[in-house]
Amino acid sequence: MSDTSYDYDLFVIGAGSGGVRAARIAAQAGARVAVAEEYRIGGTCVIRGCVPKKFMVYASDYGTKIDEAKKYGWKVEKGGFDFPEFMSNMNAEVDRLSGIYLRNLANAGVDVFEERAEFEDANTIVLSNSGKRFKAEKILIATGGTPWRPSPDELPGVEHTITSNEIFQLETLPKHIVIAGGGYIACEFAHIFAGLGVETCLVYRGDTVLNGFDWDVRTAVHEGLKDAGVRVITSTVFEEIKEVDGEACPYCITLSNGMELNADVIMMATGRRAATDGLGCDKAGVSLDSRGGVIVDEASRSSVPNIFAVGDVTNRIELTPVAIREGHAFADTMFGGKDWSFDHDNVASAVFTQPEVGTVGMTEAEARKAFDEVDIYKTRFKPMKTALHGGSERVLIKLVVNAADQKVVGVHIVSPDAGEMIQMIGVAIKMGATKEDFDRTCAVHPTIAEEIVTLRQKWVPETSPA
Ligand code: NDP
Repeated sequence: MSDTSYDYDLFVIGAGSGGVRAARIAAQAGARVAVAEEYRIGGTCVIRGCVPKKFMVYASDYGTKIDEAKKYGWKVEKGGFDFPEFMSNMNAEVDRLSGIYLRNLANAGVDVFEERAEFEDANTIVLSNSGKRFKAEKILIATGGTPWRPSPDELPGVEHTITSNEIFQLETLPKHIVIAGGGYIACEFAHIFAGLGVETCLVYRGDTVLNGFDWDVRTAVHEGLKDAGVRVITSTVFEEIKEVDGEACPYCITLSNGMELNADVIMMATGRRAATDGLGCDKAGVSLDSRGGVIVDEASRSSVPNIFAVGDVTNRIELTPVAIREGHAFADTMFGGKDWSFDHDNVASAVFTQPEVGTVGMTEAEARKAFDEVDIYKTRFKPMKTALHGGSERVLIKLVVNAADQKVVGVHIVSPDAGEMIQMIGVAIKMGATKEDFDRTCAVHPTIAEEIVTLRQKWVPETSPA
């Protein structure tokens, strides 16, 4: 039964993947639900993240495919890439999806407020534009994350840079883009722009991109960036950015190694932070971690019993499907009479470099720390398709096995369609499959993925950098 001293049973702040799922499930279970969104319904994933990014990956990939097709007998000519045409088609699709999210909320009976919401206290929400004030029994923080970049004190000229928010609003294709960072976003966009024919340079403070991933994946992606024509500068950061007059590339970046780079677009892909600034978490008594993330327990409950948080704002795993599951579990548990929490172990994910990365479970280094003995199976080869077009693309498939019980504890792939492969392998890993289970699974031939079940030779550990 609803407590009518409150305007809503649930008020959700943020209509991204996690917030929308939670609002919809709670409303379908009979709760009185409202959601507020300060930017656009759909959140980072739909509006300025996964979805438009994947379209850009497809656009970029066609460039290479056209060249490859010629070796397969097709008479095709590259007529150039119409960036405005592509962006307009992409934005139309993003608008359509945002509309679907909005309709789904409305159909579930959720009240939608398209403005910023902030806490006044642990049960009161104030909307910034209209000044409307609502009392809610439970409040869900689902505000996601926001790109982080250094302050002007740390990096003079940082105002000339853009982030992954603005990259989807470019009106013309850059001539020379310089990207700072070596994580998911930096690597994905370096491939995108290189594939679109843009002179692309990646500046990374470490020595090998994709910190935190399995070492073999990191080296494969690092080499793959260079093969794709990306200029990769390592162990270096930006020191200063200046405007230069009358040049096609109007910015000059000075690097910490003394080099200078010219660019017309500079993208900071230096990480994201939980979006809690100005939210009023202090007024509500919600505790935050040192990076501004909401501290939550397994049930996504914050330090205040009636306030919960899901998705990127909690600094757990920053992935859309995780936010969706967390939101679903919260709503089922609190309003649907189904008590469950999301299991954050063995979440498969992909990095949409070209070729893609697909990964699930432990890296070799993590497994070596966790277990007495680890068996490694890996292979590196050129996919069959390259035999005719002569491309330099190479595939990596690696299995990490706990020697004691032969469970496959990690699978790491760099390959075309690795994202698709790892989704299915994720099921086997979640079920606790052993190496023998992989071995007795018959191959599908001829595919790249068949190598996953035909790896018989253990890698000699001494030769494998952990
Ligand atoms: P990441 O944390 O992946 O990468 C940030 C990069 O910036 C790292 O290379 C880091 O270096 C570097 N960096 C951080 N601070 C500085 C600094 N002060 N100066 C120079 N370099 C710096 O963040 P992203 O923004 O790329 O992505 C955020 C998250 O979003 C990801 O972790 C992922 O969870 C999610 N995401 C998922 C995608 C997918 O599923 N395909 C796609 C895009 C994002 P170092 O390595 O040394 O720390």
